[in-house]
Amino acid sequence: MKTNFSNTTTLVSALILALLAPIASAESLIIRNARIFDGESEQLSAPSDIYIEDGLIKNITNVNKTPQDIETVDVGGRVLMPGMINAHAHVMLQLNVLESLTSDAYYYAYTATLAAKSLLDNGFTTVRDMSGNTFSLKKAIDRGLIPGPRIFPSGAMISQTSGHSDHRTAEAESRLLDSGSRSNLERMGMTIVADGRPEVLQAVRENLRRGATQIKIAVGGGISSYGDPLDVTQYTEEEIRAAVEAANNWGTYVAAHVYNSEGIRRAVEMGVKSIEHANLVDLETLKYMQDQGVWLSPQVMIFEQELRGMNADQVAKQQLALEGVNQLMTNAAKLDYRNIVFGEDMVTSLEGLNLINQELVRRAQWFTPIQILRQVTSRAGELCMLSGPRNPYGTVGVIKEGAIADLLVVEGNPLQDISVLANPADNIRVIMKGGELYKNTL
Ligand SMILES: [Zn+2]
Repeated sequence: MKTNFSNTTTLVSALILALLAPIASAESLIIRNARIFDGESEQLSAPSDIYIEDGLIKNITNVNKTPQDIETVDVGGRVLMPGMINAHAHVMLQLNVLESLTSDAYYYAYTATLAAKSLLDNGFTTVRDMSGNTFSLKKAIDRGLIPGPRIFPSGAMISQTSGHSDHRTAEAESRLLDSGSRSNLERMGMTIVADGRPEVLQAVRENLRRGATQIKIAVGGGISSYGDPLDVTQYTEEEIRAAVEAANNWGTYVAAHVYNSEGIRRAVEMGVKSIEHANLVDLETLKYMQDQGVWLSPQVMIFEQELRGMNADQVAKQQLALEGVNQLMTNAAKLDYRNIVFGEDMVTSLEGLNLINQELVRRAQWFTPIQILRQVTSRAGELCMLSGPRNPYGTVGVIKEGAIADLLVVEGNPLQDISVLANPADNIRVIMKGGELYKNTL
């Protein structure tokens, strides 16, 4: 009798608890009747339901096997894919090159606020920011104050004096003089110049202090900087190793801006894990990168764009970089380079940033739709997650149980025609970030 009473009590308690608890948490939602591109597979799934709870993908099942009493978005058999990831973004740097040398922090911030919204509107739910003072922007987005993608920030790109982070003109006084000063980009935290092992260590650690998820250094010439030709190598082996050590101590990795083979090989030998651009790399060095499992983060469109505020020398460097793109991409396709990601590197123009989905179409010259789709989802996600314990979010770039529910519903089938993604306003019908509907035009 006593046992029965106890059992009854337990049962009643359980019933009361069940009644008190919501049937499903307010954060639950089901996407019904979706054909899934999961970030990897060449085939779309059969029509499926995706059960989302607390911002994560909890369950993927056959259609109509999920509970009926939860908020539902029926996507009518359309394609569901992971939110896209832009592995080389500059959310803070959509100012004219000349404006960037004079603007205050407010103008940078107002412009970046629009840039962040533009990226999310285009279907990018995550970006790896590769130079810029994005930390407060990231905070505002993560708190839901303004719309934008998740940001994996690098903080200020680090280079040597006269390197790609040094945006002083040739006439500026030497910093060895008391009258010498830093460029506005440095003062705003967008780039930083550091020479020698102690300064490089300090510059890396300043970024880590702010919450950088990876570190970006420049080990070769750049286009928008004034004093450095593209063919030069920047930083000594000791300086590169210093950056790698400080990043590794923090559980993360270093990405390097560089175009030429010599600079790439040295960076990889010193422990750099991600090569940004690589336009002028030769086949042998690209193979070496592939053997080392190094990530290749190339771009196309940025080298074709007219960038606002550049002088003739800068335009000439841009042209030189553009001439390397075809060989780079042809070789990468020939090698079936696995660790290659989507990125766009667009700077100087919000109007240009609005067009970045065209980068997907540009890549169709060398890659199949499935290859491009992997670059912009699972591969870029894998690169983001190379930040290991410094990854502030979780699993991105794939549709699987436990991943973050960053999802797009697409009109048409991008596996057959990648260009459907180039018109996000019409063809990306749903944008979900962290289980929340940001856009739904179904
Ligand atoms: Zn860049």
